Amino acid sequence: MTRLDELGEFGLIDLLTKNISRNRSVLVGIGDDCAVVQEGKKQHLFTCDAFVENIHFRREWASPEDIGRKAAAGALSDIAAMGGVARYMLVTLACARDTDVTYLERIYSGLKAASEEGRAALIGGDTTASCEGIMISITVIGKAPDNPVLRSGARPGDVVAVTGYPGCAALGLHALEQGDGNAPEALIRAHLRPRPKLMEGKFLGNGEVNAMIDLSDGLVQDLGHVARRSNVSIDIETKKLPLTPEQCAYAEKAGISAVEAALCGGEDYELAFTVAPQQAAILLAEFRLQFNIPVTVIGAVTEGPARVTVDGLPCPHAGYNHFQTVK
Ligand code: ADP
Ligand code: MG
Repeated sequence: MTRLDELGEFGLIDLLTKNISRNRSVLVGIGDDCAVVQEGKKQHLFTCDAFVENIHFRREWASPEDIGRKAAAGALSDIAAMGGVARYMLVTLACARDTDVTYLERIYSGLKAASEEGRAALIGGDTTASCEGIMISITVIGKAPDNPVLRSGARPGDVVAVTGYPGCAALGLHALEQGDGNAPEALIRAHLRPRPKLMEGKFLGNGEVNAMIDLSDGLVQDLGHVARRSNVSIDIETKKLPLTPEQCAYAEKAGISAVEAALCGGEDYELAFTVAPQQAAILLAEFRLQFNIPVTVIGAVTEGPARVTVDGLPCPHAGYNHFQTVK
């Protein structure tokens, strides 16, 4: 018998989905942030994301409004990662029989706010009992740009860039776990209320970006998907990682590494992308004019084995993997 915790999340997905037959209208199937499907002249994006009590959220830390909002953010972020536009949202809600109905209404007010902000109309879903706890699964259907940005497009010579400040969400989670009431609000907010970078993704998708992914499981792990799908090496330079004074101060006080949190911490929902060096300067300058968040070059793509290195060396730490606690 092979146990699930030996196989891990991605081994399981590979095992379960091998030899799946593909319809000709499926342009991109399993393995990217969204599936891309052609219907007539139009291309649509499909993605879903589950949000499970005590795995993804805890009622002690998050308000029900934040839980609803963040459940939607995960799926909306995958649309952003393709450079797409979110259009429709479906919600599956599972909850135990003794759940307070007002609590669920408050989750829904967060969900509705996210659907309005993401311009994804809530058009349906499913409701079921669970044995224990709440599970919210969000499906988002979106409009693809003319050339959806895939994980497989990175080319040797590209620079690698990232939006925002990766690692903040992981430090915020650390503070919540430690019950640190004095932790910087920006870190707590990054964990509890991530904003899917839809406008930013659309802008980058219309630019000359070669590959893109959203950061749900940590920079090294998520760029690892880009490296494998593109068959390239990606090197991250730690001295280039954008770190806020709050990240550095909190990490130092807590005795953890801000760099490691930035490399391996999950749930930032920032965007990481690769772009040819000739296009990078103008794209990044335009991005900075349009958006209020930073964009930073953190590394480079080279030919070589499909892997991510950090300062030229293999990264000893993994990102988040359901079913595997130690890697
Ligand atoms: P993301 O972090 O971008 O949401 P995941 O790591 O969850 O992506 O999934 C990786 C890929 O595997 C995606 O293309 C997703 O659609 C696919 N996938 C995940 N779970 C399953 C499953 N149970 N059955 C089929 N495909 C799956
Ligand atoms: Mg993703």
